[in-house]
Amino acid sequence: MSTPKKFASQADLEEKQVSFTRLSEHAYAYTAEGDPNTGIIIGDDAVLVADTQATPAMAQDVVRRIREVTDKPIKYVVLTHYHAVRVLGASGFDPQEIIASQDTYDLIVERGEQDKASEIGRFPRLFRDVESVPPGMTWPTMTFSRKMTLWLGSLEVQLLQLGRGHTKGDTVVWLPQDRILFSGDLVEYDATPYTGDAYLRDWPATLDAIAALGPEKLVPGRGAALTTPAQVKAGLDGTRAFVTEMFASVKRGAQAGEDLRSVYRSTYAALKPKFGHWVIFDHCLPFDVSRAYDEATAHRDPRIWTAQRDKELWEALEGQVRV
Ligand SMILES: [Zn+2]
Repeated sequence: MSTPKKFASQADLEEKQVSFTRLSEHAYAYTAEGDPNTGIIIGDDAVLVADTQATPAMAQDVVRRIREVTDKPIKYVVLTHYHAVRVLGASGFDPQEIIASQDTYDLIVERGEQDKASEIGRFPRLFRDVESVPPGMTWPTMTFSRKMTLWLGSLEVQLLQLGRGHTKGDTVVWLPQDRILFSGDLVEYDATPYTGDAYLRDWPATLDAIAALGPEKLVPGRGAALTTPAQVKAGLDGTRAFVTEMFASVKRGAQAGEDLRSVYRSTYAALKPKFGHWVIFDHCLPFDVSRAYDEATAHRDPRIWTAQRDKELWEALEGQVRV
């Protein structure tokens, strides 16, 4: 860490290879080597999209893939959580309904504007053709608490809030007939979990609840689709290991009275050998450790990230900020 790192992921400019993986006659995964994933569910009479990509222009590539396998209308967009990179492409699908948990809706009200500015500043590549995003927020048109069931003809789709983890409003999309789960950012695979808005104490129990459903296939928030029970277990175990080991390291330092910068240094060193090869490790870790330090000390709920706070944190932990 002797050379200053460029802020967040502003130096990450390389386009990723997209895969469109068939999981069953009803389910597909749109994945991109660690960039944010989109899930596609095709029922008897309609298509549901889980997470939208970051811009309407990027959503067009998902629509193009969908149209290669079905001409049914795209009726529903489900937002697994409020992060801009997951929701700002929604208008590109022109859905009848945009569905999210009430907790996600509340987070959009409370911090949607700041989050949008923060995320675009952190990772410009992920917001290709950002001018195609309509002004303002992407508002859900339907909300639910705990559980909602949609019937796409004879296909049952469950939207479940199994507990807090990546955010307060996390929702998973579950196909009980096919035993396929779309986890949003509650589970990552070969990609570093972002915990800047997380509830780290709650996250492991939420992973337990996912495992208890018995998914045979799982589409994580980032990384390849997991298409066997062994791969699903690896995704759950890897996410749990990162979340618990990171939080434990930060708690140890905080309880010893160390400041954030010192805790960051020791946690980075502790995690790098095991997790450093996962995509966006260097991007996530300052934000992850900052939230963990907050949760271990004074802040039950995540503080709102702003573009300004992002830069201040980066400068505090990584030294010089170059933008
Ligand atoms: Zn997220």
